[in-house]
Amino acid sequence: MKRDIHLVFLLLLIIGLSLASLTLWKVMASRKQMLDDINTHSLNLTQALSTYSEGIVRQSSMILLGLVERLETEGSGPAQIERLRQLVSRQQSLMPQMSGVTVYDKDGRWLMSSNRPIPAGANSSDRAYFIHHRDDPSREPFIGLPIRSRSTQEWVITVSRRFDGPHGEFAGVVAVTLGIENFLRLFGQLDIGREGAIGLSYTDGALLVRYPFREQDMGRNFSKSPIYAKYLVDRSVGTASFTSSLDGVERLYAFRKSDKLPLVTTVALGRNEALAAWRFEALLSLLVVSGLLMLTGFVGWMLIRDIRRRVAVESELRVAQQQLLDSNQKLAHLALNDPLTGLANRRCFNETLDVEVRRAQREKTSLALLMIDIDHFKLFNDTYGHPAGDACLQEVGALLAACVRRPTDLVARYGGEEIAVVLPLTDSAGAAVVAQMMLDRLKEKAIDHRASPFGRVTVSIGIACAAGAELDGWQVLLDHADGALYAAKRLGRNRLHGG
Ligand code: GH3
Ligand code: MG
Ligand code: MG
Repeated sequence: MKRDIHLVFLLLLIIGLSLASLTLWKVMASRKQMLDDINTHSLNLTQALSTYSEGIVRQSSMILLGLVERLETEGSGPAQIERLRQLVSRQQSLMPQMSGVTVYDKDGRWLMSSNRPIPAGANSSDRAYFIHHRDDPSREPFIGLPIRSRSTQEWVITVSRRFDGPHGEFAGVVAVTLGIENFLRLFGQLDIGREGAIGLSYTDGALLVRYPFREQDMGRNFSKSPIYAKYLVDRSVGTASFTSSLDGVERLYAFRKSDKLPLVTTVALGRNEALAAWRFEALLSLLVVSGLLMLTGFVGWMLIRDIRRRVAVESELRVAQQQLLDSNQKLAHLALNDPLTGLANRRCFNETLDVEVRRAQREKTSLALLMIDIDHFKLFNDTYGHPAGDACLQEVGALLAACVRRPTDLVARYGGEEIAVVLPLTDSAGAAVVAQMMLDRLKEKAIDHRASPFGRVTVSIGIACAAGAELDGWQVLLDHADGALYAAKRLGRNRLHGG
């Protein structure tokens, strides 16, 4: 039973542990899957956005290439500039991201502005892109940091090229301005959640565009951010997870460096926000599993309680059964034994004698019966008192019982101070031997009886013996024994008679 309880415990433990570990494993696996999916999705997004930005810069630099070509071959006289303006206005309608095109002479003075009349005295010789082209003979396009347009007050990025004079000297700069509004409009159409951000930066970490737009971010440099300081050092594409130095939000980043241009596109999603769906699912799983575990525990507890109850009932039953057996034994003993001497009682004697007489008749064996009576016992009681008489009866009973050895022999209290002994398979000689032994033992014992002529307790024994067909039933045998006892008394007591 204890083993049953242990087994139930073990079973519950195994069920509980497997359920818990399976759920944990599933929850963790789905978290990893979710993060993988988010990373893949963000990386795909960086690919698309990077292609978009590259395309705009490339288109701009192609337009610039055409304009430089014209300026270098046709010069920058008013007629040429006017033709240029018309060409640009046609191109502008084909490329809506382009805010405008401006041409500067070698001193930074405005020669042409595609959008509106040139403000008086407009000069951009202080702009970084102008200084770059003036001081660097490279004819490659230059992507400038965001600036506030002097003409529209908008935040713009410039892509510019220099044009040379006939002798290869610096003659001026042509710049395309790209309103970052165009980038923000596209970025804003993408679902990146409330905590998401999309960024376009220079490879050195200088920010070009960030969505959502915040004025204070413009002109910032993120070279210290892990993306530039750590990840982009040895790879051009990847994912990372860290807390933003800008707003303290932990984000999942995907970044991609352009192959040809010094641009980096970053897509960032708020980690908490991105994992919200997973967290909800995990919580639900946890709740369901906890419920199941509690249910299993409850059922197990009921099972164990039932087993314990059964154990208790069974042990109570065992105790009751034992008590019943004990009292049965006691009852049987009471029914067949004499309470004073512990010898068999009259009833037992009668039954045994009947059985043994029949057996002897059937099997033609001999059967002996001794009837024993204590001599002058009335006097013993009168002399020593009734309780002493009882004790004497017990002592004599035990002494007589000790004289028979065979298991089939029976010593019984016949009544009062009379004791009967049934000796199956015993002839008269054998019976006489037993009777004599009884007399001898009593003599040895020498129990005081001063009122008796013998001075000690003595008995008279009547012997009856018969075999097979001679046996006429137990009553006859009993009468014989009684007769023999009477004769022994008459002949002077303390003797055996008959056989
Ligand atoms: P005898 O047999 O020698 O002729 O003399 P007796 O004194 O033994 O005579 P009898 O058989 O007539 O008396 C039996 C006495 O035994 C009567 C009674 O006082 C006593 N007796 C019988 N049963 C018990 C008993 O259970 N306890 C005690 N203490 N005495 C008993
Ligand atoms: Mg008597
Ligand atoms: Mg007597």
